[in-house]
This record gives sequence, structure tokens and C-alpha cells, in this order.
Amino acid sequence: MSQEVLTPPKFKPYTRQSIQQSPQWEKIPLELREAVLVVSRVLPFRTNQYVMSELIDWERVPDDPIYRLTFPHQAMLPPAEYAQLRDLVLIKKDEVAIEAQVKKIRLQMNPHPAGQMTHNVPLLDGAPVQGLQHKYKETVLFFPSAGQTCHAYCTFCFRWPQFVGMEGLKFDARESNELTAYLKQHKEVTDVLITGGDPLIMNTRSLTEYIEPLLDAELDHIQNIRIGTKSVAYWPHRFVTDKDADDLLRLFEKVVKAGKNLALMGHYNHPIELRQEIAQTALKRILSTGATVRMQSPLIRHINDDAKAWAELWTLGVRLGAIPYYMFVERDTGPHEYFQLPLAKAYEIFQAAYQNVSGLARTVRGPSMSAFPGKVVIDGIVNIHNEKVFALQFLQARNPDWVRRPFYAKFDPSATWLDDLVPAFGEKQFFFEKDGRTPTDIRSNPSNATHSVIKFAPRELRKAS
Ligand code: SF4
Repeated sequence: MSQEVLTPPKFKPYTRQSIQQSPQWEKIPLELREAVLVVSRVLPFRTNQYVMSELIDWERVPDDPIYRLTFPHQAMLPPAEYAQLRDLVLIKKDEVAIEAQVKKIRLQMNPHPAGQMTHNVPLLDGAPVQGLQHKYKETVLFFPSAGQTCHAYCTFCFRWPQFVGMEGLKFDARESNELTAYLKQHKEVTDVLITGGDPLIMNTRSLTEYIEPLLDAELDHIQNIRIGTKSVAYWPHRFVTDKDADDLLRLFEKVVKAGKNLALMGHYNHPIELRQEIAQTALKRILSTGATVRMQSPLIRHINDDAKAWAELWTLGVRLGAIPYYMFVERDTGPHEYFQLPLAKAYEIFQAAYQNVSGLARTVRGPSMSAFPGKVVIDGIVNIHNEKVFALQFLQARNPDWVRRPFYAKFDPSATWLDDLVPAFGEKQFFFEKDGRTPTDIRSNPSNATHSVIKFAPRELRKAS
């Protein structure tokens, strides 16, 4: 009897140029198809056959969360801008005018959230190190050039300007020489986060070239190697059936055998992503190498603004061996008005989800804003001396002394980000704004760059980075 040999699925992406050839295209109502073709001129669009055939429920489109997560839609652009662009793309088909209109719209979408490209870049021998960020004392972020795309793009992603190739926003390193040289001079660093895009878009050979140098005996102070990845959800085959999947697992084992903690920072936005058998197999295979997996995601309107979904995600994750880590607040860039939720609502969803999970899932922190001064978590909404306030604290900060110091902001039901908040109890400034050096001072003294006191005078300095 002949035995059937199953061919492992091959990764097949779809973009604006190829989406019309996908088997699902005809299932999308005309108006939504138009929106895909128009909005994807402004914002990056990439999905793949696994996302389309396994994760999206086409009966629920457009309200299916994974459709909202990966397909551009009309309300992501202001109505007048959308109408003009639609006219140019679908009727006039004037490429020069389209380009001008696209550029105008992108510049209105805060493509340069303050600080990201300027304030976190460390210096090595007086020169900025390409593809590195050092914001918190113990953690360095590394952006390998081959890992700057993803298996699909999330419509809310704050890295959208990089994916559409906006000038000055490319941020990557071709090799790891400068990273290791920098780390050798910075013994206070214990963690390296390899990030992107998605570093696991790389083949194992390329990834090995970046990771192996971190196992050098001179880098004994590096305890944790983290990899930020969405492949666990968008293409779990990366760990199971891809032709170098086994080699990837061997690489993970090697890191663990070298005495480091290898932590995959798994980007799961919705429990649908983890309900799939292939995603669960991927998770088991990763954990079998001795690596750990943490789960994190922003809270995004239209996609996961539902306490039940979060509780299911954390509960299922814990059962499979993953560790709930962060619920983030959506950042203030790109189509954030479409995706953002008031901080008060974010807190309500977090609390309701947290109240419905086992203690083992309560490792999760949130809702947390990755803002310019640090990661600020909303601890509660309380009344103190007849004033309704947000209770806040830093989970991570540019100045380690700020971490875990409670502070308070006036309750504001419509605030969506830290810079919408003002101090409670009649204070003029938050404690971390009161004194210290300017970002320019800090850049001129790189040895202390990531854990100095910073003076926050202008509002914009409080924005995301
Ligand atoms: S996978 Fe991560 S980096 Fe890639 S588009 Fe989604 S949020 Fe952005």
C-alpha cells in the first residue's frame, strides 16, 4: 500500500500587487476591496495564505478580528483624504498625483513618534551605532537588517513608516560586530532584544550569524537573549515544517546550553491565533528546546477590545506553557485614532480579563504605555481626597530610580496617552519632569545615556519612543 507523503506548506505572501490573485479575493465585498487597494497605497499591506485560509473567518468580514488586523480599511484614513485618494487610484489612475497625495497623508500620521530615532541610539567611540537602541539600563535592542519585514503586517503597527520605506526611518544593522563591541563596553547590560520587523523572517543561517557572537565568553554579563516575534501567530510553520525549522530549534538549544535564557517575546493579538493546532505544535517545539515564550500585545479597538478574548488568550497560553507578559496601550502614530481606546476603557478591559484568569496567568502587566520616559502602567482609577485620579507607576524607566514610584494623574475619561494626562492634586509637574538634564546633555555623555535624569519640558518629549 503506498503511503501518502504530505508536502509541507510553503510560505506564500500576498501584497497590494498580488492580493487579487488570492482565492479569497472574490469573497470580499466590492467596497472593502476598494478600500484595500486605496488604503494600502498609504499604509503597508502584507498578508499570507495561512492567515487568510486559517485565521480569518470570511463569514464575519469585515468584523473578523484577524481581517481587521491585517487588511487595510477605509476608516483608517480621514474621510476627505480617503475620497480624494480613491478618486486618484480607481478613477483617474494618475500615479504622480497619487504619490503626492500619499506623501501628504503619511506626513499627517505622525510618522516620527518623538525619541525613537534620536534619543535611544547609543554611541560607540563617539559615533552612533546603526541598528541599536539603548533606552533602559539593562536592555539593548538590536535590529538586524535581514529581519526588518514580517510574515504579515499588522494594520496598527507603529513601525509602518519603516515598512513603506519613508526616508530617515530605516533602522537596521547589517552585522553584529558593533553590537558585540558595544556590549563589551557595557557590563550593565544583561538583556539583548533582537527585534524588527520580525527577526524570524530570517533563515536560520542568517539568524545564527547574529546570535552566536552573543555566546562569546567575553559577554558573560548577557544573561537573556530575547527575540521579538509574531511568527508564532502569522507563520507557526517556521518552527514546525519550514525546511530549516529543526535547525532553528537546534540554535535555540545551543543558546540554552551556553547558559543563557532564550526568551521568545511572542506577539499574540487574539486567541484565534493560538487555537490553531499548528500554532500549539510550534509553541511545544519551542519550549522543548529550553527556551521560554512570553505573550504580549497592544489593546486595539476593533481587534481585541474584549476582556473575554484576553482571558482566553492568557488562559490558553498558560496551559500550553507560555507566560502572559504585557497588555500595551496602542501608540500615537499611524491610524491610531481608528485603533485607540481611552485609558479608562483600557483599564476596565484589563481588570475584567485579569479577574477571570488563574493566578498563573497574572504575570501579565498592563495596560502599559511605552512612552518617552518609560513604560507607565495604569494601576487603577481611585478617589483620593475627593479627587478622581489615575494611579500610575513606571515598570521601566530611563532613570531606574523612577521605577515602582507611584504617581497620580487627574482622571480624564477621554485621555488615550500619557501626554494627555496632567498631574493630580494641583501639582504643576509629574515627579519625573521636575529636574535633570536635557536629552542633548545625555547624548553628549553616552556612557550614561540610558539611565540619566531627563528634563521633560515640551509636551512632545513625552510621546512614544
Ligand atoms: S508583526 Fe510586529 S513588527 Fe510586524 S507588523 Fe505586526 S506589530 Fe509590526
